[in-house]
Parts: sequence; structure tokens; C-alpha cells
Amino acid sequence: MKNEREVLEVYLVLLSCKLFIKTGRSRKFGGISVLLAKEKVCQKERENQERARLMEMAIEEISTRDPGVLQEIIRIHQLKQNIATAGTQRSSNNEPFKLICPMCRTVEIQGSDVRNIMGKYFVPVDRALFDGLKIKCKTHAPEPMDGLEFVGEIFCNGDTEPGKKCGHKLGIMIKYGSVPYLSIKADKFGFLFGNMTIPKIFKRWKQAQEKLYIAELTKDDIKRYIQLTDEDFAGLHESDEETSSSDDE
Ligand SMILES: [Zn+2]
Repeated sequence: MKNEREVLEVYLVLLSCKLFIKTGRSRKFGGISVLLAKEKVCQKERENQERARLMEMAIEEISTRDPGVLQEIIRIHQLKQNIATAGTQRSSNNEPFKLICPMCRTVEIQGSDVRNIMGKYFVPVDRALFDGLKIKCKTHAPEPMDGLEFVGEIFCNGDTEPGKKCGHKLGIMIKYGSVPYLSIKADKFGFLFGNMTIPKIFKRWKQAQEKLYIAELTKDDIKRYIQLTDEDFAGLHESDEETSSSDDE
């Protein structure tokens, strides 16, 4: 078993690297950047390998957990939720919505990007949150919780005024099957429906779910979140030789 903290760190580095790689690619390479390009190819290669490794671990861990502890946690949670919502009118509302940081109003999450894990943790599977550096994570030593891990706290990194960052606490960072997710708290966001301009506040996700629908995290979501193509995914168990070909010139 790998050192989990190490895996998390690698993952976070990968997430932050992506921005750099993206911008690098959009530029045309001059003669002097051959070395840079080479380094870039190497980095991409390393990145692909790390992703593949991480993906394999993530899927494997989740699969092996399914029959045991996890299933039981889900069952108990669903039971509790059924009891809690019995008697209340439950409209299965599919109205589109988005979440917005109420403090800076610059950081938002599309409702269609939010998934639930075990009906308890609500996570955006939108990588743009990382790419734009819209959030900040303070990680700490992993603390086990519900068969997953609590690894840090998340703060809003939106701009309030020039040179000032929001800093509003948005939730916690969890690790589920080796992959970090932002578990966002309902009461830390404003909910906007349709053309609404004044956000609605929900104290808890349970309350919010009476008004809106949030699907469960699936393996396809995980794949998309980590951004592996189906091809990459199919090739996970093969030795990878054919990568990084014509990238420059
Ligand atoms: Zn904010």
C-alpha cells in the first residue's frame, strides 16, 4: 500500500501543473524552447503515468470496499434519511441550479457538477475549480471518517477587491478511494435557481435535496474528474510505450 499522503500530494501537484501545461501548449515553440518542449513531454509522460496509477488505485479501492463496510454505511445512512424525510412532501425537483460563494460572489459551482458520496458528502466533480485556482486547500494529516478520510479544509480563493482574497470557508477536503474531493457544505453557499439573483440558503444538504436532485458519484464521474479518456482507461494494465509523439515542430 502506498503512502496515502504522498499520493494526495502528487495529485495536488498534478492539478496545479495542468494550468501550466495548458498555457505552455497554446504558445508556439521557437527554436530556443526545444529543451522546454522536451521537459514538457517528460512531464506529460510522468503525469500520464501518475494519473493511470491513481486511477487504478481509486477504482480498485472503491470496488473492494463495495461489498463490505461501504455498503453498510450507505444502507444505514439511507435508512436514517428515509426516517427523516418520512412525512415530508418530497418533490423530485430537477430544476437547474448553481452554488455561489455568498461572500465574494465570484466563485460558483454548477449544480449539474455536484455529486453525492454515500448520500452524505457533496462534491463538485468539476476540475475547473482547481484549474482557475478558485479555491485553496489547507491539508493536514488524514483523519479516518466513514470509511474515507478527512484531509484538509477548503477556502474560497475568489477576489473580493483588488489584491484581496475571499477566504470564506467552503467545506472540507476528503479522500475517497485515494482521490481528493472537495466536500462542500450547503450552508456555506447560496443557491441560485433559474434567473434568481438573490440566493436561497439551505442549512443542510438534506433540506436542499427536497428542492433539487443530486446524483450519486459514479465510476464515470471519477474517470472524468481525473480526466482520463476511455482509451487511457482501457490501457491501464498495459505497458505504456506509445505516448508523447509529435508535440513540437
Ligand atoms: Zn468567496
